[in-house]
Amino acid sequence: RGTMTVGDLAKLLHKDASEVIKKLIFLGVMATINQELDMDAILLIAGDYGVEVEVKIPVEEDSFETVEETDEEEDLVSRPPVVTIMGHVDHGKTTLLDSIRKTNVTGGEAGGITQHIGAYQVEINHKKITFLDTPGHEAFTLMRARGAQVTDITIIVVAADDGIMPQTVEAINHAKAAGVPIIVAVNKIDKPEANVDKIKQEMTEYELVPEEWGGDTIFVEVSAKQRIGLENLLEMILLVAEVNDYKANPDKRARATVIEAELDKGKGPVARILVQHGTLKIGDAFVAGNCFGRVRAMVNDKGRRLKEAGPSTPVEITGLTEVPLAGDPFMVFEDERKARAIADRRSIKQRQSEMGANTRVTLDDLYSHI
Ligand code: GDP
Ligand code: MG
Repeated sequence: RGTMTVGDLAKLLHKDASEVIKKLIFLGVMATINQELDMDAILLIAGDYGVEVEVKIPVEEDSFETVEETDEEEDLVSRPPVVTIMGHVDHGKTTLLDSIRKTNVTGGEAGGITQHIGAYQVEINHKKITFLDTPGHEAFTLMRARGAQVTDITIIVVAADDGIMPQTVEAINHAKAAGVPIIVAVNKIDKPEANVDKIKQEMTEYELVPEEWGGDTIFVEVSAKQRIGLENLLEMILLVAEVNDYKANPDKRARATVIEAELDKGKGPVARILVQHGTLKIGDAFVAGNCFGRVRAMVNDKGRRLKEAGPSTPVEITGLTEVPLAGDPFMVFEDERKARAIADRRSIKQRQSEMGANTRVTLDDLYSHI
């Protein structure tokens, strides 16, 4: 598609082109009548005339919100479970994440330089588990609020020398609201004051009843610090994963969620994403939130460069034009032009909803001139 010129816009707004040009100059845009305008300029001018613009995105154009999973059963392949660790402050979330990472029983990838990419994978019994290690609650809540369901299983850590605390309850509520299975990790069992039964008792008040008490919640006793019970915890995760049989279709364009993103001095915008469907490849054109790009380089949590990444794989990518937000949906498109067009539309839509605009001229009308 082409773009809209100053003359087109003036006609649409029933104004003289010269007037529009004056406004553009006033807004700092040197323009002539045949100059093509970008969406920003169109919005600025329309806004200046008090014409509120509504973007009507044709459903099939903005497949982000509308894509439905229509995978055939035979295309689905088992994928690693994605696990989040939550719990009250100081109950040992960070220590547990670090210890699990070191437990990395993976033969092949040992020796790699681990690097923080917002998530990591460990391997046990030849099966992988993906852990999100973004700061727990906020990320989880934020992503859920934005409609991104990234977690399959939640580990709720409770210190055995303490008890259920406000953030423990919060974590339970988050997991329940998300409909995600819960495994309770009773931590700090190395401490003399540890009282596992007290924790189990308290948990029953939140309908988390241990199996040995007739319930169906898995409780695992661990010491994150002394690295006791970690393998058992990992095995329980695999058990839950087996029961739920998490699957995805690797043979299609990737869809992912942004876990974290930042502007790196050397690399430019980087995003740490979790691939959820399909396979992401070097060179893929994508939209992440309102940003677009093309995958330039891809690195896993062991610092290894990847050419492609399948479902449940966390990767850090470069090749973005801007920095997206945590929780932003990420989707590959057939080419960069399409990705750019969709990113544009999305930012317009966002700006427009921020302006709380009402319709007089719709961008559909504008687009019909394009
Ligand atoms: P977070 O706030 O939940 O991330 O908790 P941290 O992982 O930062 O742990 C808080 C404190 O508890 C730190 O001083 C840890 O060393 C300590 N800690 C964590 N796990 C254990 C454990 O299993 N046993 C003991 N004794 N201390 C632990
Ligand atoms: Mg912590």
